[in-house]
Amino acid sequence: MDSHNPKCSFCGKDKSEALLLIAGTHGHICESCVEQANEIVLKELKTEVEDKSDFSLPENITPGHIKSYLDDYIIGQDQAKKYLSVAVYNHYKRLKYNRAIEDVEIEKSNILFVGETGTGKTLLAKTIAKFLDVPFAIVDATVFTEAGYVGEDVESMLSRLLQVCDYNVEAAERGIVYIDEIDKIARKSDNPSITRDVSGEGVQQALLKMLEGTEVHVPPQGGRKHPEQKLINVNTKNILFICGGAFAGIEKIISKRLNTHVIGFNNRVQEELIKDDQPLLSHVMHQDIKRFGLIPELIGRLPVLTYLSPLSLDTMVRILREPKNALLKQYEKLFELEGINLVFEEDAISFVAEQAMDFGLGARGLRSICEEILTDAMFDLPSEEGIKEFVVTKEYAQKQMQKSKFAKLKVA
Ligand code: ADP
Repeated sequence: MDSHNPKCSFCGKDKSEALLLIAGTHGHICESCVEQANEIVLKELKTEVEDKSDFSLPENITPGHIKSYLDDYIIGQDQAKKYLSVAVYNHYKRLKYNRAIEDVEIEKSNILFVGETGTGKTLLAKTIAKFLDVPFAIVDATVFTEAGYVGEDVESMLSRLLQVCDYNVEAAERGIVYIDEIDKIARKSDNPSITRDVSGEGVQQALLKMLEGTEVHVPPQGGRKHPEQKLINVNTKNILFICGGAFAGIEKIISKRLNTHVIGFNNRVQEELIKDDQPLLSHVMHQDIKRFGLIPELIGRLPVLTYLSPLSLDTMVRILREPKNALLKQYEKLFELEGINLVFEEDAISFVAEQAMDFGLGARGLRSICEEILTDAMFDLPSEEGIKEFVVTKEYAQKQMQKSKFAKLKVA
């Protein structure tokens, strides 16, 4: 290269032909090549962004595949798994085709789970997000208050979503938000009272637009919006919202509805409905949720309604053993790393499940009970030599539980 007469290394123009020649380490570039290169860069980036928003399910995936993935992690709850699989399948199909189908706009299928605490609602939402590999955030509806009151604005749930994906807005816009304890923002009475229901109906109203799909200005760190804060725009159109709640006492509402109808002409059908061995919760309908105190507009934005059964002793035992990351498998692994074979005897397993049932925490209690039973062993065994096996009998488990904080709880 002639350093006295530099040329553009891309198009060959020399100093006299180009307006500007920018020097690099090994060559030069003229202004028109810079412009062209810039156009190429923008075009490439744009396709990348569009590709991201065109997120779709892996090829050949069916709702059946989704459910069998869920089966690996969640025991029972077949109806909830089926409804969730279909809803998610349709949701991502809608993302893929909505631009192509012009005559019908497919609406979002946000989901509402009704079921006691510790029955797997959060786990279902978390597992489906893992399957799809999309950003996932869990928020608690009780922290939200209507704008202007002490508490968090509903927008802050999107801050959480942004945080988990390092503020990648495109990724967040196809994520999943799980709103827990949605039943706690029910209107306190059927009669809208004179005093403002700060945490109830106001929050439900605030959620409406977000669930349906709108452009939201999100404070990056969550909490309240401050005038000096730079806000991030997030469109919730393609975010899937899954809401869950225990709806304590809803069985009464359901049974009242079913019983009232028994008087009607279709009483045979109703009687059969009540007689079958399904839990009462399995008959839950949107009208029961409305009775409970969620406003019709909000219910309308949660079209997929399903239930999770209370866990039986048998299911608890299966939860301890069967899921891919079952608790017992985890403890076995931990002991194995110490070179010890951990054996839980059958009746010790049943004992753990019974204890968890007694505490009414659902499957959530299993973990703390196992910890109580195994902590001494996990403390002592690593410093003892030559131990190859540790057997947990029912008697051992009982003894450990008796000296635990749980025993004190029971006395109280
Ligand atoms: P909630 O219904 O209150 O949201 P979670 O989904 O948080 O309950 O469940 C608490 C824990 O209990 C989970 O992390 C999981 O370990 C266990 N669990 C609950 N239900 C099931 C289930 N059906 N199958 C497997 N594990 C379960």
